[in-house]
Amino acid sequence: MNRGILCKKCQQEIGEDKRADALYCSRECRLAARMQEVRRRNSQRLKYERELAQQFAAWLESFERKLRKQAPENAIGYRAGLWSGHGYLWFPVLPAGTDARGKLRTRLDFNRRRTTDDYFHLHPFEPPAVPLATLYQIRFISNVYPYPDLEDAGSFEELIPYEMKIRGLPIENLASLPVRKQRK
Ligand SMILES: [Zn+2]
Repeated sequence: MNRGILCKKCQQEIGEDKRADALYCSRECRLAARMQEVRRRNSQRLKYERELAQQFAAWLESFERKLRKQAPENAIGYRAGLWSGHGYLWFPVLPAGTDARGKLRTRLDFNRRRTTDDYFHLHPFEPPAVPLATLYQIRFISNVYPYPDLEDAGSFEELIPYEMKIRGLPIENLASLPVRKQRK
C-alpha cells in the first residue's frame, strides 16, 4: 500500500521508505527544486533591479535635487552610511586590493556598470546602490585628492526606498542590523 503522495517536482509517487512528511521522491528532485527556487528568486530580483529607475523615478529626482542643494561647493560625490550599531558602513563598498591581474577591484553601479570609484558621483548624478531599503546618513566627498569625506558639511539623513544585491559586503547578515527594514 502506498500513501498516494506525489513528488512536488516530478509528480511521481513518493516511496514508502521516505519520511511521512517528505515532499520529494528523491535527493535529485529535492536539489532540482531548490535550484529552481534559487533561479526564480534571482530572476525576480533582477527584474526588480531593472525596474528601479522607473519605479523610483520621482524619489530619484527629489533626492538628486536635495543632494545638489546640500552639496558643499567642493563636493565631487557622496556616500551613504548604514548604521551598524557601533559605526557606519559606508556605501559604495569597494573590495580592497587588486585582482589576480593587478587591477583595482571594481563595484557595480546603479546601472550595473563597473567602476573603481569609491563614492557615488554628483555630476552626472549617480543614484545610490545600497543593500537595504532604510535610513542612511549622506556625506559629501571632497574633489581634492585623496577625496576625504566632508564630515558634517551638508550631511543629511535620507530614507533610500529600494535595495540592490551588493557583493562582498563586510557584514555576514544584513538582517541582524538594527535598522528598520522597508517594504520593497
Ligand atoms: Zn521526484
